[in-house]
Amino acid sequence: MPSHFNSLSAADLPDHEAGGDPTTAELLAARPQLRLDALCGLMLERVPLAGIADALGTPVWVTGAGILRARLRRLQAAFDEAGQAVAIHYAVKANDHLAILRVLSQAGAGADVVSGGELQRALLAGIDPERIVFSGVGKTDDELRLALSRSIAQINVESREELERLSSLAAAAGARARIVLRVNPDVDAGTHAKITTGRADDKFGIGREEAAALYAEAAALDGIEPVGFAVHIGSQIGEPAPFRTAFARIATLVRQVREAGRAVSVVDCGGGLGVRYRDEPEGSPRALAHAIRDTLGGLGLRLVIEPGRWLVAPAGVLLSRVVRVKRSGEDRPPFVVLDAAMNDLLRPSLYEAWHGVVPLGAASAARPAQAAHLVGPVCETGDTLARDRRLPALREGDRVAILDTGAYGAVMSSTYNARPLAAHAMVDGDRWGCIRERQPVERLWAHETVPDWIAGAGTPR
Ligand SMILES: *Cc1c(COP(=O)(O)O)cnc(C)c1O
Repeated sequence: MPSHFNSLSAADLPDHEAGGDPTTAELLAARPQLRLDALCGLMLERVPLAGIADALGTPVWVTGAGILRARLRRLQAAFDEAGQAVAIHYAVKANDHLAILRVLSQAGAGADVVSGGELQRALLAGIDPERIVFSGVGKTDDELRLALSRSIAQINVESREELERLSSLAAAAGARARIVLRVNPDVDAGTHAKITTGRADDKFGIGREEAAALYAEAAALDGIEPVGFAVHIGSQIGEPAPFRTAFARIATLVRQVREAGRAVSVVDCGGGLGVRYRDEPEGSPRALAHAIRDTLGGLGLRLVIEPGRWLVAPAGVLLSRVVRVKRSGEDRPPFVVLDAAMNDLLRPSLYEAWHGVVPLGAASAARPAQAAHLVGPVCETGDTLARDRRLPALREGDRVAILDTGAYGAVMSSTYNARPLAAHAMVDGDRWGCIRERQPVERLWAHETVPDWIAGAGTPR
């Protein structure tokens, strides 16, 4: 760290309320990638975020390339220390920006994709097709043909119907598809209902009872080479127990299928490792490595994981400016209206997700804390980033960073309320660059037409 930066100490920042939300000092202490400098304000890696907001305006996403590399290294090291070989395939859906894919693939990651678009992004970013796996419950013929034509590592098949379809497409193309069957292990990952995927009632995967029989049938199908099984039980999982249960069930299945005389060479253990947004337990790479080693490690399999959130969530922030502070009576918290909204960051509205918020300026960060409702300008009550949050008192024009928004942030943005997609910057040590310009507003209607018979005279197009 250069010596001319002066970190503010916890004593300079507002204090805590028992049982309440983490304070600014606590949020920063838990995130070494962020630092509040007395002069430059909040910094990601070694770049002052205010400078990026000045140059690109707000709202703007910022991703730290150095953080991405460090997290991938940490994950890999946990497996190395456990003595368990693993292939890490980044789940592209968490954040599919080409620069992020490039950073992670240069650092050794492959990709897990869930659509033809993601597959094209991964290829465009230079990821070797041999390091790409394709998951998803509703792959279209075009998507399957694209996967076949590029000879990707494996297609994760989610149903008998998909298997039969893939067989006829592969046979027609004279191709042979390496497939794994995605098994629904019937495990409740104990996470939010909208992101749990491994219960028998969820739409994903093939029932355990059916999987062994379908695997045997697959071997007899034209154009299909079954190589193993996949499992993915959900997202934002903090405790290792559900992983262990699921992997143990897959290990049982592998033994059973081998006893019946069939080869199994791959198990894809999926993603799901959670991060600490507020004060929940952070998913432990070490515990994941041990869970995999202890259940599947002795079976001579090639093992794959598909982490998304854990790699990228803490590497990203969303910068936003306070447009208005609207009072609502003496004894009620004010509404702090930001220029970022649910169309930018959907997670709070969709999952009741909690994200830390830290002012960019050191002076604003040092103001006494008060409760406020943080909202966006979109015409929905659900457009609320935080209710009743104790924060340094915010004023019009102040800028804030919304923390841990690197995963399932920019990728879930929409243009609702005709709000263009935000800009995106990447920092890397002490460098930074714009990696996506703010969408020009005209592009929102660039592909719209008004039919002749409706247009009449005097309309613009
Ligand atoms: C979403 C998804 C992942 C990544 O999940 P994270 O919780 O972001 O790690 C991995 N595999 C599959 C099949 C997925 O659908």
